[in-house]
Amino acid sequence: MAIVTRRNFVLGLAAAAVVPVPQCSPGALPDAVPLPDDPFTLGVASGDPAPDGMVLWTRLAPDPLNGGGMPNAAVAVHWELALDPDFVDVIAEADAIADPALAHSVHARAIGLPADTWFWYRFTAAGWTSPVGRTRTAPRPNARPASLRFGVTTCQHYARGYYTAHQNLALEDLDLVTFVGDYIYEANASGPRTHGTPTATTLADYRNRYALYKSDPNLQAAHAAFPWMVTWDDHEVVNNYAGDADSSGTSTTAFLERRAQAYQAWYEHQPVMLPGGANPRFDIYRMLVWGKLARMAILDGRQFRTPYRCGSGGGPLCEAMAGNEVTMLGTAQEQWLASNLAAAPATWHAIAQQTVMTPFAPSTVGAGVNLDQWDGYPAARSRMFDLLEHPAVTNPVVLTGDIHCAIALDMHRDGDVANPKVATELVAPAVSSTFAAGLEAGFEAGLNARPQTRHVNAHQRGYLTCEVTPDQWVARYRVVDSLVPSSGATTDATIVLDAET
Ligand code: FE
Ligand code: CA
Repeated sequence: MAIVTRRNFVLGLAAAAVVPVPQCSPGALPDAVPLPDDPFTLGVASGDPAPDGMVLWTRLAPDPLNGGGMPNAAVAVHWELALDPDFVDVIAEADAIADPALAHSVHARAIGLPADTWFWYRFTAAGWTSPVGRTRTAPRPNARPASLRFGVTTCQHYARGYYTAHQNLALEDLDLVTFVGDYIYEANASGPRTHGTPTATTLADYRNRYALYKSDPNLQAAHAAFPWMVTWDDHEVVNNYAGDADSSGTSTTAFLERRAQAYQAWYEHQPVMLPGGANPRFDIYRMLVWGKLARMAILDGRQFRTPYRCGSGGGPLCEAMAGNEVTMLGTAQEQWLASNLAAAPATWHAIAQQTVMTPFAPSTVGAGVNLDQWDGYPAARSRMFDLLEHPAVTNPVVLTGDIHCAIALDMHRDGDVANPKVATELVAPAVSSTFAAGLEAGFEAGLNARPQTRHVNAHQRGYLTCEVTPDQWVARYRVVDSLVPSSGATTDATIVLDAET
């Protein structure tokens, strides 16, 4: 049963009722289950900040790399949310259920909270207490916040390097982090670190892969420091899948079964305010609203895209992908984006998504392109540009991951800088995933030869930070040495966008 306290609630927001959603009905708390070992091995996280709440996440897993090590029973997990890191001013608390059907993950929804406020949270279960996380609510929809500071991260291959990027990210002064895909990699791999298990294909496999990644203390620190907005790309299921098809000819039925299990494991390990369970189809696209300063659409460019008909490599694009029916987002998500991106005024309109959108050639048919990116979906990109050029979509910025290379690009129709600029694309560097060895310099030279390129670095790993105000969007490309476990971060490039309207 939910228990609400309002001790020392002194923010002058007396009308704000602090009423968490009851996580279970009275009398439904499960019997106490003894847990001889610390179940909080995977840290804590929060996400999807709204003006009145957010979701708080943890997972009970005393033996995280071997299925979790929990008894096959539901466990009550108590959570507390406070105005201070010492939990003197606890303003909301309740019990949530860690269900074995969802790997004893907890997605506790705190609602009724004051807007634009920082909080600290923790969980307790069977006498154990979790690490403390810090989170916040968004400003009210009609507020005019002075700034939004957020990080953009992507592509954190565990075996390719250390999470030096997360170690530094956790120290930044940010409101939140947006993650744009490749949180895990499904295949076995070794490098500075090793996955140590075969390619993930089942729910149990994917759970163990997430647990390995989430066992990293630097990743835990970055989650504990800020709320995250998370979406996925391909490697949360399998490399270069497209809609209902993988790239190795698996039957649709078998692939959708694998995808549903991968999606469930993703849900179990992410701080997302979404319905959980076995999800053959899982709508994860949603909107972050930061008052009248910024709206950020969090998109899914994988689940609903047209399967490749010309391959997923370097082209050429064939006529089979040149028709108007070709989609990157699917009809429902496209319509949702069109009706929600500018549903209320905001200075900045951001699109957080997976693959590079900027065109480089007048016609991509026959050109040397990357058909996994928007280059392979020209009609879908044209419709996206129509939306980004809508007068209500002021100051559009596209946030991208996937390619393991930091890039800043001006987007023009047909890749022709003589055409008006549609938007700026900021491609975040990978946390640890590497660019194709030996091809970095050539790729950089090729991009630098394009007039729309403002910055490119394929050699280094890191993350992006964005400081957004009513006048400017300042993007800083932060780089680290991911092969040195505790290297510092430096700013490799700063891109400043001026608000035009
Ligand atoms: Fe990647
Ligand atoms: Ca990818």
